[in-house]
This record gives sequence, structure tokens and C-alpha cells, in this order.
Amino acid sequence: MLNYYPTINIKTAASNSSDTSIFVIYTGGTIGMDYDKDEKHLVPLDFKYMIDKVPELKRFDFELTVLPLNEPIDSSNVQPHHWLNMGRMIYDFYNDYDAFVVLHGTDTMAYSASALSYLLENLEKPVIFTGAQLPIGVTRTDARENFISALEIASTKNEQGKALVPEVSIFFDHLLLRGNRARKVQSFNFTAFKSQNCPPLAVAGIHIDYNKQLILPQPYAPFWFYNRMDSNAIIVKLYPGLSSEYLDYILHTPKLKGVVLETFGSGNAPSDDEFISVLKNAIDRGLIIYNVSQCNGGVIQGLYETSKKLAEIGVISGGDITPEAAITKLMFLLGNEPDISELKQKLATSIRGEMTVARG
Ligand code: ASP
Repeated sequence: MLNYYPTINIKTAASNSSDTSIFVIYTGGTIGMDYDKDEKHLVPLDFKYMIDKVPELKRFDFELTVLPLNEPIDSSNVQPHHWLNMGRMIYDFYNDYDAFVVLHGTDTMAYSASALSYLLENLEKPVIFTGAQLPIGVTRTDARENFISALEIASTKNEQGKALVPEVSIFFDHLLLRGNRARKVQSFNFTAFKSQNCPPLAVAGIHIDYNKQLILPQPYAPFWFYNRMDSNAIIVKLYPGLSSEYLDYILHTPKLKGVVLETFGSGNAPSDDEFISVLKNAIDRGLIIYNVSQCNGGVIQGLYETSKKLAEIGVISGGDITPEAAITKLMFLLGNEPDISELKQKLATSIRGEMTVARG
């Protein structure tokens, strides 16, 4: 049925009766690159030769299938339709595999992992994003370690024989992070991702220590894939000097439906009448304004005078959500939740573990 997908089976030590199977989607990014014949330029690696670069894979006792995208991309080129494609692939192969690993560039990995966390509801299987700072064909690469640990975590089951981490996560360096809590924080060293407002789901050392209390439980309702995102949303980052006139102009952008407002500290913004009335007019015209902090910790509207007015005019608090998780959540809800008061309610609360608790 699914032979229109050009998948590659990797020869591991798994027997035909292996009881674990993992589906790997290779989307592009540094991880899958190697030097060309002249040893000069990095080019996407043909995944048929992947096993040569990671000989350790031969020792795994689970089945491994790789689906390389026709045209691997630098993740800076990722668009919402790529998220829908990834979600569609996972949906199409959902019943055939026990776990999914997505090889992805690091630049927008936190956005993609967040988007997938919303698109895939009631996951009972792991979807683990990973990538690398150095290409898999380079001697000192972090790709092998990241890929192998991601596979190992993906194959781990609990006492009931179910997946131990049934959610969308990011494995990078030695940390397993909830996908919609992670941010790329480094472009030079190997610890590229952190989730400042949420502890890691697992830490990989000699053993992999899981934070079982934090990992989302196995769902009760059936798995569901949403196939819509509405990208009529933007992020506006506040800074001293942003004029109300510019802001008003931006908020009048045709087709715009929602704005993630990156505010100061615990959700604060200028309190002058002009600024507040620009926001209020936008809300009165039907725009959704979602308050997300520029720093770790999160938003508490009303803690300071400078955020009290935001709450009064109907700005929605994003609590401790990250900007990446906020903009993708907005696109997801705009695309899938037609009831506007339900949409606002879902923005204010956690739907996939992306917020601790929205206060204020
Ligand atoms: N620009 C690359 C990407 O995000 C960087 C990486 O893979 O780490 O695709």
C-alpha cells in the first residue's frame, strides 16, 4: 500500500521476529552530510551508505527503516507544509512501527518538534527528533552518538511493554527534552538545546535516567493526526523604541489572525495609552494576542502594573511557553479550532505539555 514511499531497510542484527521496529525520517540538516569526492564540500549523504558511517547500527536488534525525503533541506527552509508532510508520514506508518526518529537540521528543530507535538494527538509511540552540530561523515561528529541514543530511547519500553516516552521529544548531546519545551541555544558547541522551563525527560550518561514522573502518560483516546496549520500569525518582539505607529501598521496586515507578543520579563509591556489602545483595537477587530516572555520563567499578567492592562484588554497569557511552541500552537489552533472561545481557552492552558501552568 505504501510503496510510493522510497524507504530503505538497514541491515541490523535483528532477526525476522524482532519485536521492535523503528521508522527513521531523514529531512536534511547537517547530520546527514558527508564530504563529496573532492573532500571539499558537504553534500547530503545517500542513506544507502548510512550503515557504513554508523557501523554500530548493525549490532542493534530492532528493525530499522529509513525514509529519506526526496530533497533533503537545510532546516532554515522548513515551512508548515513540511510539518504536515512529516505528520502525514508518521500517520501513514503509525501502525507498522513501534517508534519514529526524525533526523532534522538543528536551526528550526524546536519549531518542527513543537508543531508535530500538536499535530499528533494521543501519541502512544515515541517521535524523537535529533540532529548534529557536525556532519555524520566527519571524524569528531556528534551525529553517531545522537542518532544511536535516540534509537535506543525510541526502542525502550515500560513494564507493560508500551513505549516509555510516548511523546514528541528532542534528543541532543546527552539530553532528552520535551519537543515543545526545547530551544536551540548554541550554534558552536554540542549542547545545542535546552529547555529552561522544564527539566529533561531523560539524561544519558552511562545509563539513561528517565524522569518518569514528567513523561506524558500513555493516552486513553485514539491517536489522531490533524492535517492543517494556518500560518496567518506572526511573532512581534517588543524592544524599547518600538513605536506604536509601527506596531499598529503591523497589526493591520491583511489576513493576519494572531500575534505572539514577545514581552519583557514576566510579561510586561509599555503601559502608555497609545500602545495599549493599538493592542486593544487589534483585539476588538478579532486578532488574538498571545503574551510570551523574552526570558526564561514566563508570564504572570498582573504581577506588575505594566502587564495588568494587557490582561484587562484581553491579551492571553502564554505562561512559561517558549516562542517556538507559542507560534506553532497559534498556527495549529487557528487551523483546527473554529470556536474562538475554545481557541483562547486552549491557548491559555497546556494541551500537549507545552506550558507548566498559565498564571494570570
Ligand atoms: N543549517 C543547518 C540546519 O538546520 C544546521 C544544522 O543542521 O545543525 O539544517
